[in-house]
Amino acid sequence: MSDCGDSNDNNSYDIAVIGAGSAGFSAAITAAEEGAQVALIGHGTIGGTCVNFGCVPSKTLIRVAETLHVASASERFKGIETSAKVVDWAEVIKQKQELVDDLRKAKYTDILPAYNSVAYLEGEAEFSPEGKLLVSGEVVDAKKIIIATGTRPALPTIDGIDEVPYLTSTTALELETLPASLLIIGAGYIGAETAQIFARAGVKVTIISRRGLLPQAEPEIGRALADYFDDEGISIIDGITYDRIEADDGAINLHIFNKTGPEVISAEKVMIATGRAPNIERLNLDGAGIEISDNAGIKVDLQMRTTRDNIYAAGDVTGSDQFVYMAAYGAKIAAKNAMNSNSLSYDNTIMPAVVFTDPQIASVGYTELQARAAGFNVKISVLTLDNVPRALAARDTRGLIKLVADAETKKLLGAHILAPEGADSIQTAAMAIKAGMTYEEFGSMIFPYLTTVEGLKLAAQTFDMDVSKLSCCAG
Ligand SMILES: Cc1cc2nc3c(=O)[nH]c(=O)nc-3n(C[C@H](O)[C@H](O)[C@H](O)COP(=O)(O)OP(=O)(O)OC[C@H]3O[C@@H](n4cnc5c(N)ncnc54)[C@H](O)[C@@H]3O)c2cc1C
Repeated sequence: MSDCGDSNDNNSYDIAVIGAGSAGFSAAITAAEEGAQVALIGHGTIGGTCVNFGCVPSKTLIRVAETLHVASASERFKGIETSAKVVDWAEVIKQKQELVDDLRKAKYTDILPAYNSVAYLEGEAEFSPEGKLLVSGEVVDAKKIIIATGTRPALPTIDGIDEVPYLTSTTALELETLPASLLIIGAGYIGAETAQIFARAGVKVTIISRRGLLPQAEPEIGRALADYFDDEGISIIDGITYDRIEADDGAINLHIFNKTGPEVISAEKVMIATGRAPNIERLNLDGAGIEISDNAGIKVDLQMRTTRDNIYAAGDVTGSDQFVYMAAYGAKIAAKNAMNSNSLSYDNTIMPAVVFTDPQIASVGYTELQARAAGFNVKISVLTLDNVPRALAARDTRGLIKLVADAETKKLLGAHILAPEGADSIQTAAMAIKAGMTYEEFGSMIFPYLTTVEGLKLAAQTFDMDVSKLSCCAG
C-alpha cells in the first residue's frame, strides 16, 4: 500500500472509501466536508470508469463521428456541398486521450490536495476472513466503510468467447487503426453508441442481440432508431440464440441460430457490450457478511447501507442506476448517512437518462409499460418530429416524442424523446413531472419557438388535439 495526502500513522480513519472513481470521490469529499478523517482507497487508474473509459472518451468520439456524418449529410440542403473523412484515426484517438488525461487531472488527481483530511491509499482493498479491511494486505482501521468499486464489462456465455481476441468498450475506444468490419454483441446503450461511432468512421458494423436495439426503451423509439441505424448501414440482427464463437484466419466467426436456422456472422473484430459486472469477487464480501442482491450488485437499502452494520455501498457496484450522476448522488447520501445517523434516503423516481446516439434518446419517469404495470389508467401521446418546427428547419425530422400520463388526473408520468438534440430537453420534462403538472398545464406553458424543447409542449397538446392543424406558434 502506498499513500499520499495526510494518511494517519496508525492507519485509523472515520471513513474508508473503497474505489477512487466518481462515487468514491463523491463519498470521500462529502465525508471530508462533514468533518471526517477519510481514507480513499484506489486501485487501477484514478478517476474510474467515467473519465477514463466511459462517458468522456465515448462522448468525445461521438462528436468526431457526428462531424463526419453531418458533413456528408449536407445533401439535405440545396446549393451546398460538404464532405469529411477520416485521415488519421490514431490522431483522433490521441486527441481523445489528451482530453481524458486533462480531465482526470483537473477533476480527480488535482482535487485531492485541497482536502487535507482525505488520505489517498493506493492498493487493492479486500476484507479479511474476520471482516477486517485490508489494503494490499495491511489492516486499515475505519469506523465506517463505503464500497464504491464500480463495474467492468461482463462477458456473455457464448462457447469459445475466452479464446477469441474480443474488444470491450474500453479497448474499442483505444484502437488506433479502424477495422474494416466490427461485430458488436449487445444492443444496450454502450453497444448502440459505439456502433454509430465506428459506422460513421467508415467501419462496416453489425449489432447482434437477442432482444433488439435498446430493449429497455419505449418500443416506438427502439424501432425508429433501428430504422435510422439501417439508413446509416448499421445491420442489426436480433431474436437469435448463440451457438459458438471462434477466431479463424484474421476473422472472428460468430455462429448463431436465427429464425430460419444456423448462420455464421464474420467480422474483422468483435466487441462485447453485454452489460457490466460489479467488481466484488476480490473483496471477499462473505467474510464481511455483505449480501448480494438479485441484480448481482451489492445489496443496499434506501440509506445505502449494506447488510453489514457500518458498511455502505454506492455507485455502479450496487448494480442499479449505472450513470455517473447517480453514482455521485448515491455516494453523497452514503457519506452523509455514515456521518449523520442515516437520515437521508435515495430517491430515483425522477431520474433522467440519455443515450447519446444520433438521434439522441432521453427519457424520464415511467414508460407506458411501467405505468400500466404500476396500475395507472394510462393515456399516451406520440408526436413525430415532422410536427416540430425546429426539426423542419433543420431538414432533419428523424425522431418522436412520447408522453405518458395518468388518464384520470392528467398528470404527466413519463417523457421519452428521440430527437437529434433531444438530451438537453429532458430536464424540462423531469421538472414538470416533479412539479406534478398535468399535460394540460404543461401544454399551455410558454416555450420558445423553433426549439427542440418546444416539441414537448406540442406533444403535451397532442393528448387532446391534432397539432398539425395549429397555425404557427398559435399554441
Ligand atoms: C462506455 C461507457 C460510457 C458511459 N457513458 C456514460 C454517460 O455518458 N453518462 C453517464 O452518466 N454514465 C456513463 N457511463 C457510466 C459511468 O461511467 C458509471 O456510471 C460511473 O463511472 C460509475 O462510477 P463508480 O464510481 O460507481 O465506478 P467506477 O468509476 O468504475 O470506479 C470504481 C473504482 O474502484 C476501483 N476498484 C475496484 N475494485 C477495487 C478494490 N478492491 N480496491 C480499490 N479499488 C477498487 C476501480 O478500479 C475503479 O477505479 C458510461 C460507462 C461506459 C462503460
